[in-house]
Order: sequence, then C-alpha cells, then structure tokens
Amino acid sequence: MSRALIERLSPTNNEIVARFAEGTVDDVNDAVTAAKIAFDKGMWPRMDAGVRAQFLRLWSRKIAENRERLARIEVEEVGKPLKYARADIDTVCALVDYAAGLGMQSHGLAYSSIGANRTGIVLREPVGVVGVVIPWNFPAETFAKKVPFALAAGCTCVIKPSEFTSGTALELAKLAAEAGIPPGVVNVVTGYGNVVGDALSGNPGVSMMSFTGSTRVGKQIIARAGEHVARTAVELGGKGATIVFADADIEDAVRGTLTSISFNQGECCVAGSRLLVHADIAEEFLQRLATAMSSLRIGDPFDEETDLGSMIHREHFDSVLRHIEEAQLEGARLVCGGIEAARRDGLHIAPTVLDDIRPSMSIFRREIFGPVLAVTRFRSLEDAVALANDSEYGLANSVWSKNIDVVMTVAKSLRSGIVWANTALDGALQLPFGGNGSSGFGRELGEAGIEEYTVLKSILIHTGKRNDTFGVAPAASQ
Ligand code: NAD
Repeated sequence: MSRALIERLSPTNNEIVARFAEGTVDDVNDAVTAAKIAFDKGMWPRMDAGVRAQFLRLWSRKIAENRERLARIEVEEVGKPLKYARADIDTVCALVDYAAGLGMQSHGLAYSSIGANRTGIVLREPVGVVGVVIPWNFPAETFAKKVPFALAAGCTCVIKPSEFTSGTALELAKLAAEAGIPPGVVNVVTGYGNVVGDALSGNPGVSMMSFTGSTRVGKQIIARAGEHVARTAVELGGKGATIVFADADIEDAVRGTLTSISFNQGECCVAGSRLLVHADIAEEFLQRLATAMSSLRIGDPFDEETDLGSMIHREHFDSVLRHIEEAQLEGARLVCGGIEAARRDGLHIAPTVLDDIRPSMSIFRREIFGPVLAVTRFRSLEDAVALANDSEYGLANSVWSKNIDVVMTVAKSLRSGIVWANTALDGALQLPFGGNGSSGFGRELGEAGIEEYTVLKSILIHTGKRNDTFGVAPAASQ
C-alpha cells in the first residue's frame, strides 16, 4: 500500500525540500508498543547508567560528524540562517553529552535515621515511555533538550516532530541506531498534530508527554494525557520583556534588544518582544536601535552573511504582517521595518519596531512569533515591573541596569522562569529552562532536566523481629 506523504516546500524559494510519511494512528500504536517492549523487557532501562552514557556519547560524536548535513536540513526546512543552524547542531551535541553525564549523577536517597531496625531507601526510576512533541522553530535543539535526558534517565521515547520540519528528528534517530542504541528506544512518527500528536498523547502506553509548542496545543495535550493520568511537561509560548533603565550600558542594551527580537526571525519562544524603556532615554535608544537594525542582513538563509532568513510558511508570514497592521490601526507608531519592508518572495520580514504601545493593545499581549517589537515607556521601577508582569505568559525577561539593587529587585519581582540581567537569549546547560502561567510548567536542562523523566519509589525495610503492632504511626512504633 502506498503511503500518503507530506511535502515540505522551502519557505525561501517554494521548492520541495522534503517528503515525510503522513503517519497514522496505527503507526503511533506500533511505535508505542515498540517503546513499551523496549522499556518493559529491554536492556536500556536496566543497564548501568555509565554504559548508557557511552552509547549517548557515541551518538553525540556521530551527530558532530554530520554537523554540516544536519545544519543544512534545518536551513532548508526552517529557513533559518546557516550560521545559526550550525550553532544549533553544536548545541545538540553539547546537550547529548551533558545528559550522558547527568545520567551517571542521578541518584536516590537512603535514610538511616528512622529507627535502629528500619532503613528507608528512595529509588529514582525512569518514568516509562515518553511521548515527545516538538515545534518547528528549533527542531533539532528542542529534540535534544528532551530526548537525551529521557534516555539518560532510562526511558524510551516516541517522538512526533513538526510536520514542517521533521528532517532532523529522523536523522537524529538514525544516528542513535548507528550508535548502537537498541531498537525500540528511539522511535519517530512523522505526521500531523491532530492525528499523530493526538494519538500519542491519548495512548495509555505513554507514561509522560513532553511537549514544546503553542499554549493552545499544550492545553489539548494536557487534557488528552490526563484521560489516562499521564504526566505532562509543557514548554509553551511567551511574551518576554526587555526592561532598559536609564543607567544601562546603552550599547549592550541595544544589541541585547536587537538580538532578542531578531534571532531566528523572532520565531523564538524566549524572544524579548516587548521593550520597556525608561522615558528619559527612550528617544535616543530607539534611534540607536533602528540604526543597528538597518545593518542586519535579511535574505537567503544559505548565504553565510545572512542574519535573518525566511518566516516558516506563508500563513505565518501573513499573520505577522496582520498583527503589524492591526497595531498601527490601534495607534502604534512605526519606527522601522513594517509591512512595506517585508518581501513576500522569500517570506522575509525586516525587524519592526512599534512605539507608543499601551497594555490594552493586542500587540502588547499576544505572541506574534516574528521580528516585531512593541515599545512602552516607563518612569519608575514599580511601573516597569508591573508592565512586565502584565502578561498571561511567564517565560523569559531581561533587565538592563548597572545598579545591582535595581537588577536584583526587578529580577526577584518578575514572574518568569528565566531572568537575564545585562544579557539576553543567554543560557548554560546547568540552568533550568521553563516557564510559568501560560508559558507552561516543567523544567528542561540542569538536574531538573533529567529528574522530569523519573519517578521516586520509597522502600522501607525492617530488619530483625517485629514485636510491635503493625499499622500504628511510625513514631509510636519505635
Ligand atoms: P504548535 O503548537 O502549533 O505545534 C507544535 C507541535 O504540536 C507540532 O509538532 C504539531 O504538529 C503538534 N500538534 C498540533 N496539534 C496537536 C494536537 N492536537 N495534539 C498533539 N500534538 C499536536 O506550535 P508551532 O507552531 O510548531 O511552534 C510555535 C509555538 O511553539 C509558539 O507558540 C512558541 O512560543 C512555542 N515554543 C515554545 C518553546 C518553549 O520552550 N517554551 C520553544 C519553542 C517554541
């Protein structure tokens, strides 16, 4: 029987760059069965974490050997600049290596303080089969923030990549097999979210769903997984603020603001898509920002010099432009970029700055997922914090000031999972990554990044003859 295929057209030149199998519910059931057998009966969850780490490190080396090929797949399917796609693959290797080490550090606890005849042991065990659903903006990197950590914990996975960008997930799974990771441990089913993603979330063989994507789909996955009481971890949307005080290093703050909104064409969950700038420096700041933005190169993502590539697809390109138009109709003042500067041919949108934004305007509240910055001025620290926190999202914000009191007061008052101070879009593998509110729950990276995929089991052992009555409170039984 011939399979239905999904064709991926390049966002840059509209040519076919990939064909993926359109997965079915049966495919999902088969993949979950394979993952469940590998988990229940296979060697992977039972082997020494040190041996698992060797497999993971070999996987990482194979990914590194294929760096250029994988990066080019990302460029073709996502439309992101090649230099950033290469950096993404380097991050993937670092994530796999880091997860390998974490797996060896992962441990339980023992309590010797609960009575002479009693010992308590807390085991940390893998949660089971993990369903992984990922978006299109950082396909390989998002895969690597989840899958190696789940594997290092001893879990097995079924992965559903985005229907627009499934290439690297398939390649990473092939390289896992080449590295000797046993069959059934890493499974990929390509296809649409409402079929493959939905069947995966609803499959009772899946013990946990790990999702990155929109808040809308995140809610559906939580509900579907909840039907069979599966655990969920969801990394969702964002509407981050870049807060610039009058005493900030203006040059650094301009570059930070620019990077926050233009990196990956603004298709970035942690983008700083709102600029909150002190009224005293706002005019000068916006002028310098517009000048810096005009030097960015927008165009062919394969060109080594390109800073911004193509938007993911035509519908998304149109939706970003609609948001710009709507904001202008509501009274926003265009500082640079805008609809006139956009090029339909190639789906290019120039970084766009919109001033005079009030919290009541939709551009202040909605995630646009493009290079569109909404600017609001503030006069006091309290106003800045209130504006930043006036959002259903709580993923990442940045604060720019040379005054440590200001930095710490603001950082502690922000309701987001990540706060950057005098830096932006920065990260370290050791620091947990995740959001609050509509940005989701659960944490990736750091020790939390592996703990997410584990469950605790308490074992209480009694030694010697028991002379007391069973069933009384522990304290009384001593
Ligand atoms: P999306 O939610 O539309 O799709 C994400 C994935 O979910 C895709 O693989 C899709 O096929 C699948 N899906 C769709 N419907 C489904 C369903 N009913 N059941 C199960 N799976 C389903 O998101 P997108 O457009 O691919 O990505 C953009 C969104 O992702 C933005 O909102 C962005 O903020 C968010 N994002 C968040 C983070 C983070 O770490 N917080 C990182 C990257 C992207």
